[in-house]
Amino acid sequence: MIIKAYHTHRGEGHRDIVLIPDGAHGTNPASATLADYQTVELKSNARGGVDVEHLKQVLAAHQGKIAALMMTNPNTLGVFDENIVEIAKLVHEVGGQLYYDGANANAIMGITRPGDMGFDVVHLNLHKTASTPHGGGGPGAGPIGVAKHMVPFLPGPLPAKGRQGYFWEDAGPLSIGRVRAGAGNFLVLVRAYTYIRSNGPDGLRHVSNSAVLNANYVMRALQEYYDLPFDRTCMHEFVFSANRQKALGVRALDISKRLLDFGVHPPTNYFPLIVPEALMIEPTETETKETLDDFIAIMKQIAEEAEHQPGLLLEAPHVTVVGRLDEALAARKPNLRWQPEPEAATV
Ligand SMILES: *Cc1c(COP(=O)(O)O)cnc(C)c1O
Repeated sequence: MIIKAYHTHRGEGHRDIVLIPDGAHGTNPASATLADYQTVELKSNARGGVDVEHLKQVLAAHQGKIAALMMTNPNTLGVFDENIVEIAKLVHEVGGQLYYDGANANAIMGITRPGDMGFDVVHLNLHKTASTPHGGGGPGAGPIGVAKHMVPFLPGPLPAKGRQGYFWEDAGPLSIGRVRAGAGNFLVLVRAYTYIRSNGPDGLRHVSNSAVLNANYVMRALQEYYDLPFDRTCMHEFVFSANRQKALGVRALDISKRLLDFGVHPPTNYFPLIVPEALMIEPTETETKETLDDFIAIMKQIAEEAEHQPGLLLEAPHVTVVGRLDEALAARKPNLRWQPEPEAATV
């Protein structure tokens, strides 16, 4: 919305295309669509980054129409796009703006900044990096930051500081207006702020360094057992493909269900979409070497089970109270309160 207000103010409201890499999270095209934009997909190259040649073709094919490029770096494959400065230059040259999806900030704190990469607008998914609640429907909060030329378009009111302390400054005439009642999910923001202040600059850098080290440690320990489609030093996460296991009749979902038997929270499955049978593994900075070694041993055991006892995986989980649930139905019609069955109660 801010990018749209920016273009409209400059008399370029006819720009109607947002470019999105093929590995993007579904929320990116969804957000662009909500802001009334068309989306055009960018291909990834063999290293997992944006294919710069394809980007050039797309820019040439849609002259004068590009509003923005939305991307995350490191991206959903867990790889850092080393062409980001060139990508930013190409998009800026045609008048487009760069939007940073900050879901992967866990890899870069104290190491690099979206603004240095050339981004104009950034959101931060606080639950991905700053220890705020995730799942169960929130509450969530996602502050945004913008480059100087975007400041007049920010939603208001904004906190400002004067001689008598802080006060709310009304939004200016170019603002996109109020987007949230009151001060938003204030306690979520306090929690994120506390996390940031208690870590401090060195602590945050340490968080990112540890997250990246942990992910590389697990990836290298397991790469003989699972296919690694993008074999590079990863950032805070990496993506295996369970293609090899699929040939044995076992799918990524079965591997995840089997992990439950060992009390391990399974990885994200089937995302990003450009990796078949994707298993996205993000150990995070907080796990000890013992926990990581334990996870590695379990994943090796599961790879062996896939070869010798695939039935065990197909029927997993074996030790949980309930087996495989209808996850789509569970999300659409959540049953949040246990009640005895009428018949059962009379027995
Ligand atoms: C998780 C994620 C999102 C969506 O974030 P939510 O706020 O959890 O909906 C967007 N982009 C990427 C790359 C993500 O990993």
